[in-house]
Amino acid sequence: MLTLTFLGVGSAFAKRNHQSNVLLEVWSQPPGEALAPQETLLIDFGTTGPRALYMLKSLSTYAYLDVEGQTNYRAIDRVFVTHLHADHIGGLEELALLCHYKYADVDTGKPYRPELISSAEILKNLWTHSLEGGMGAQVGRTAKLEDYFQPASVPVDGQTVAFTMGRRYEFRIFPTDHIQIQTRYDWPSCGLTVTDVHTGRSIMYSGDTRFDPDGLKSFMQEAHIIFHDCQLAKTPVKVHARIDELRSLNESIRKKIFLYHYEDVWDLPTFQCIDEEFAGLAMPHHRYVLFDDG
Ligand SMILES: [Zn+2]
Ligand SMILES: [Zn+2]
Repeated sequence: MLTLTFLGVGSAFAKRNHQSNVLLEVWSQPPGEALAPQETLLIDFGTTGPRALYMLKSLSTYAYLDVEGQTNYRAIDRVFVTHLHADHIGGLEELALLCHYKYADVDTGKPYRPELISSAEILKNLWTHSLEGGMGAQVGRTAKLEDYFQPASVPVDGQTVAFTMGRRYEFRIFPTDHIQIQTRYDWPSCGLTVTDVHTGRSIMYSGDTRFDPDGLKSFMQEAHIIFHDCQLAKTPVKVHARIDELRSLNESIRKKIFLYHYEDVWDLPTFQCIDEEFAGLAMPHHRYVLFDDG
């Protein structure tokens, strides 16, 4: 079984929800029967990620994320990074430093280094443009990305299997049209699909993207569940899919879409029809079953 839990469902600037980061879990038995999943993966870990994970661990079937009242970062096997905005990477310094020092192996003293997955360009820029400032200096030495993580660069072509979980869930990574500096896809940003090889069923997780039906059409048609970022408010800045744009999709696709990355206005009366137009607004701290073991 593969499950997905949103640590938060909010936009970068949301204050009533945490930012849109998710926890994937592979289970041999349903949650509650097994104490902990077999494998875990975070998709993004933004500025609010540490606080959101800290709160999640107090829910009963997430107790494996708790160690003596603190967040058990050793339970996080891997982190996948979609792009370098702070709502997607702002929590990585805390995760890395605590894994390096607090969660080092008690016998060997070796730091715990989760796997860190993204494109080669994002991994390079993640260190030199973002993390090196706070993590490059240690007492008596300078440090590299590899001191904190096991980096794994993957292709971003939407076709090649980039990595797997549970030996049956295949991840493919595609570029997203999030921010165009000059041309489409010129600023590295990505989303992903996951396919269960036993059943052929798949899900799509958009990452941050502008409305891009041409680029994402085939993934959306194939998927049985879609998680799509969505901007509810009308602003002139186009870096996310707007609700009115997503409304233009065929009903058969709309009904598969859970909207996430939304602003704090979601409960205004004007948005109450979302539950009828789409699968609904994604809920924080709800464990979605992506694939059961059937
Ligand atoms: Zn974002
Ligand atoms: Zn973004």
